[in-house]
Amino acid sequence: AVVTRFAPSPTGFLHIGGARTALFNWLYARHHGGKYLLRVEDTDRARSTKAAIDAIFDGLTWLGLEGDEAPVFQFARSQRHAEVAAELLDKGHAYRCYLSSEELAARRQKAQEERRPFRIESEWRDADPSTWPAGEPYVVRIKAPREGETTIQDLVQGPVTVRNEEIDDFVILRSDGTPTYMLAVVVDDNDMGVTHVIRGDDHLNNAFRQLVILKGMGWDIPEYAHVPLIHGADGAKMSKRHGALGVDTYRDELGVLPEALFNYLLRLGWGHGDEEIIDRDQAVEWFDIAHVGKSPSRFDVAKLQNLNGHYLREADDARLAALILPLVKGAADLELLTRAMPVLKVRAKDLNDLAEGSAFLFAKRPLEMTEKAQGLLTDEARARLAAIHERLSGESDWTLEGLEANLKAMAGELELGLGKLAQPLRAALTGQTTSPGIFDVLVLLGREESLARIGAQAD
Ligand code: GLU
Repeated sequence: AVVTRFAPSPTGFLHIGGARTALFNWLYARHHGGKYLLRVEDTDRARSTKAAIDAIFDGLTWLGLEGDEAPVFQFARSQRHAEVAAELLDKGHAYRCYLSSEELAARRQKAQEERRPFRIESEWRDADPSTWPAGEPYVVRIKAPREGETTIQDLVQGPVTVRNEEIDDFVILRSDGTPTYMLAVVVDDNDMGVTHVIRGDDHLNNAFRQLVILKGMGWDIPEYAHVPLIHGADGAKMSKRHGALGVDTYRDELGVLPEALFNYLLRLGWGHGDEEIIDRDQAVEWFDIAHVGKSPSRFDVAKLQNLNGHYLREADDARLAALILPLVKGAADLELLTRAMPVLKVRAKDLNDLAEGSAFLFAKRPLEMTEKAQGLLTDEARARLAAIHERLSGESDWTLEGLEANLKAMAGELELGLGKLAQPLRAALTGQTTSPGIFDVLVLLGREESLARIGAQAD
């Protein structure tokens, strides 16, 4: 059965690239009826923080990408990693290297001066264990093969071949007895039963090193899928300037819905024909590694906004109202917000738009007017508002149909276009020159509040 994992290092927030890696792992597991696991790679004690761990879980939960089991914390498994290093030593696939870091630095320097590539050629590689000096500090190095080549059949990149001489005898256990990242990843993937390693292609080189450990232990080799990184719209490596923000920023500041980000991340580097709108269930059904692109995808904010607009229109009104309630200034009320949602969400691109668009509903009298709205309220317009006020005071059918019929009749009697009534009316009711349809506004505000606002501007 398929087992995938997402293995973030908790040294920062859950960024877009990480979220997409999690998503692909989740989808691959779901598509194959397998398991998707989380592993927190917290072995960098200085840089791993509780806040980062919380932020990552928080972001994953928001996107609906929680692991299928309790997360594994890598640092807690250091003992196990050291045991594997010991086993590799026993089997002769690793060795104790007593070269000091000063000695290595000197050799590196010399290679540089002689303009030849540096590689670690430790005289300890083939030393007999009986010659290991007792009590001296050492690191444990893997014995990497020196001849031949290694090929990985990567599910995204295709076959990738590296000459073995390019793989050095890297450290698996430091002199203080702590495991390196390279060792920990392999041991954990093995122990967690991971069958498919899906991650950023910045880890492709590591895969060749990780293979050396796997082979030394005689463990099953997982399938690899190294996904190209995300670039900015200009093709350059993704940075903050391009929107390489934390998932929490999309949620808390940019007003993005999780299903929109889900759909957006899915389309970032994977495709199913020309389909743009792909929801969760459809994604599970369609997802495959074969259609993950080989070149970096470009982050496109406008596309994310369009998708977000789509999902806003699809979203349940009560849910949206609850989401924007804390964003609306003043005393907003959930019931009215919910009722207003169908007309408000038509044009909104994000939750901030929605909150702004609904502000007029809860505005206090006298309304603050935009300059344009103020400009509409000429003497003539104010006189018209007085007439409207009088007429609507007698309206017994305060519904879309009733109000529309009434104001259209009034416009007809005055031989005016409906706009001539609607414009000052909109200014008086909302303080703005754009709003949902004027009859919707009247119905949402209700008779009492509408008449009060009109009256306040009438002359
Ligand atoms: N912890 C690594 C990272 O955050 C991922 C390691 C892996 O997926 O093998 O980049």
